[in-house]
Amino acid sequence: MDVLEKAKILGTAGKFDSCGPKSCEVNINSGLGGIYHAKAENKNCKIFKTLIDNSCTFDCKYCSNSTSCKTKKTAYKQEELPKLFNYLNKTMDVDGLFLSSGVSGTADKATQKMIDSVKILRNKYNYKGYVHFKVLPGTSYELIKQASELANRMSINIESPNKTIMSELSSCKDYKTDILRRQAWISKMNLSSGHTTQMIVNNISTDKDILKMVDWEYENLKPKRVYYSAFKPIKGTPLENEKATKISRQNFLYNTDFLMRDYGYKLKEFYSIMDDEMLPIQDPKLAIAMQNFDSPIDINESNYEELIRIPGIGPKSAKYISTKKEKITKYEELQKIGIRLNRAKPFISVNGKKQMMLNQF
Ligand code: SF4
Repeated sequence: MDVLEKAKILGTAGKFDSCGPKSCEVNINSGLGGIYHAKAENKNCKIFKTLIDNSCTFDCKYCSNSTSCKTKKTAYKQEELPKLFNYLNKTMDVDGLFLSSGVSGTADKATQKMIDSVKILRNKYNYKGYVHFKVLPGTSYELIKQASELANRMSINIESPNKTIMSELSSCKDYKTDILRRQAWISKMNLSSGHTTQMIVNNISTDKDILKMVDWEYENLKPKRVYYSAFKPIKGTPLENEKATKISRQNFLYNTDFLMRDYGYKLKEFYSIMDDEMLPIQDPKLAIAMQNFDSPIDINESNYEELIRIPGIGPKSAKYISTKKEKITKYEELQKIGIRLNRAKPFISVNGKKQMMLNQF
């Protein structure tokens, strides 16, 4: 098989990992898979996201690389991937590599192959750009350390919110040892872009299970962010006949995650709007506000914690209003500082005026 055909198979296999770019695939005439626009190190990049080998001895039921899945298997030879990446870098301005692999043989054997390729890229081709290195479950500390010296960002996918759910999906991965312990090691390594993880959103896990684990992650292991991947059944896997998860569920989890990370919402606030451990099919910030505000609050009398919980008001505007010495007297002033008035109006009063009652919303 030639390198371009491998690139197509291994690039396409890489798209199932959401722990990195997945939108805006670049249309390349060669049909090469795996090139995406993304933000890395605070700039826009074109990232080549690929596996080095799509054979895997593990049996994760959702994965097209698993041992039971009969997809076409292939792997780059030692020099092939760095040479191809160097070509993409020089000719197509591809300026980031997201490298992952199936566990071909053992985790250490597969990781060594990934490390060797990145070393060639860094040393022989003098590539100084962005590398996201996927840590495989069960990889030894020594190899993770070596990889961290070559990478800008690392990730290991937790996939499930707890040990019991993980064991329903894979008989090979030990949740605590193979994943969380490795993630704890990564969290202490010196990476310019930190570390991330991915959670699969499926019908076995409730939103409460997922958010409880994510909250623990942010508190203890401090990932830069958690990515959510709505389960999609893949043909040829044991879960091929299961129902796909609606994208809206994934998106509401992203909204909730954002409120916890950037707005300071507490996990328990989301419990209060859940039904049967699931978030409502509605913007979670709006759902909490509708539950908590009986009547519009006076914008000039409210503190930061109250203001940040009003739909349409973000951290910057909440800070601005809560620290401003002069009173705000007109809605137009709020619009000028970026508040989305159509969302905020039912919850606020300005200078004694309420433009819409909560029950009219
Ligand atoms: S370890 Fe990774 S590549 Fe292997 S089957 Fe599981 S999810 Fe797929």
